[in-house]
Formats: sequence, structure tokens, C-alpha cells
Amino acid sequence: MQVEFQELYLSPIEKELRFNQWCQQNNIELFLFDLDDTICRTKENFWEQLDKLAKLLHQNSPNTSIDEWKAIVNETNNRFYQTEGVNPKRRFSVITDLTNRFSLPENIQQQSLNLLSQIYTTPLQWLPGAQDGLNFVRAHTPIGVVTHANRGWTWQKYQWLGLAEYLPWDHVYVVNENGQKTAESWQQSIKYFGQEAKNCAIVGDSPKSDINPTHTIGVKHRFFVHNGPIWTTQQQEVPSDTHHINNLLEISNIGLNSLASLPATRH
Ligand SMILES: [Mg+2]
Repeated sequence: MQVEFQELYLSPIEKELRFNQWCQQNNIELFLFDLDDTICRTKENFWEQLDKLAKLLHQNSPNTSIDEWKAIVNETNNRFYQTEGVNPKRRFSVITDLTNRFSLPENIQQQSLNLLSQIYTTPLQWLPGAQDGLNFVRAHTPIGVVTHANRGWTWQKYQWLGLAEYLPWDHVYVVNENGQKTAESWQQSIKYFGQEAKNCAIVGDSPKSDINPTHTIGVKHRFFVHNGPIWTTQQQEVPSDTHHINNLLEISNIGLNSLASLPATRH
């Protein structure tokens, strides 16, 4: 995010005041956050386990190179993501498909399934700046989380991260795990929180599931979190008025440019 003011010269209180005024001027009554790869690091868990699966399959069938196995595994996982969404049961479909196509022996099937199961049992970590960012925003406006992961796994993440310190469990809205986050599901989540799209700001890492559907329903302020490569299934162009940030704490910069009317900074 480009800012004209030197963030360095603003006292924390002045930054708070500017953010608060920005919320008032833009009628922002609620900030909604995506969870996976917006608040916590999730995609690396998938990629790590998918890589381990490719290595296992390569050991079992060395005539196919490791890179070919990686391509096969990723293509299979992406294909079932399109039809089954983020439902953890997708792993069974992936392994069954690989078994049928490559005649995997039973012990390899079981080891493969174990590798993919670990995705859902490995504790997830906070992304840098996420805790400070959530604390900053929630000091000014209510916050909620909108995620499309499985409800049980979402509860695990809530526990692993200690999210109860930041928001109650009933402020975590779980979209249908068998599909994708769409304009309709975002609309439902905003309704759940008793708000309208024009009074919400949203924060997410996916152009397809977070930024573009909320643009469609009239969310004016959308923060696109950049934190490494994006799933190929989630890549799309985003509108030019999207706010781009590298971590959640950068949301605190949003008021800096728009409030020239505030008293001059004491330098
Ligand atoms: Mg995400």
C-alpha cells in the first residue's frame, strides 16, 4: 500500500485516530477476514504433504520422474478441489483416483492417505503481522472470520491459534465446505453478522474466493493479502481499486492518505 505520510513519524495514537476517522468516513461497521492464508499459514501445509506424496509415489514407481509425479498429484488434487471444495474427505477421492489410474499397492495407498490426513492434524501457525493487525482493527470496529473450510477443522484452527482472544467462536462464519466461497456465500455471511455489504470491509488472499465475489456484491474496501504464490485455482485479475497489503498490520495504513484535514503531525 502506497502512503504519502512517513509512517515512521506518526505516533501510535495518531495512527489510531486516522484509522478511526477513515472507518467513520467510509461507514465501515464490520471487518470480515478470510482465515486460511490470510490469518494463518495453510497452503504450505498442503504443498508440503503433496510433495511428500509425490516422493512416495516416485519411490514406488521410479520410472516416472519426481517432477512428473508432482504434476500428477497437483492436477489430481486441483481437479477434486473443483468438484468437492475444501472438504477434507477430498483426500479419499484423490487417493482412490490415483489408485485406479496407477494401480497403487495397498501399503502405498495407506501411506498416501496418511500423508494427506496429516494436512488436517498439523497445527497451523499465525502469519506475520496477523495478530497485531487483528488487534489494531478490532480496537475500532467489530471483526468476523468467513471461511469455507470444514467446521471441525476450523474449530481446530481456532484452538491452535488461540483465536478466542480475538473474537468469539460465533463470529466465525463457516461457508458450505463442499463448495467455493462465492458472492452469495459472502452475502449470507454479511447478513449473518447483521450488516450490509456497503458497511463492510473484507480481507482475503484469494482473488477468486474473496476479492472478486465481494466486489460483485458491493463491498467497496477489499484488502488483498499477498503472501507468496496463489493456488492456481484461485488466480484471477482483481479490480484496480483493490487495496494491496503484505500482512494484516498494513491495514492500519489505510487512513494515512485520506485525512489531510487532521492536525499536522508533530515531527
Ligand atoms: Mg484464504
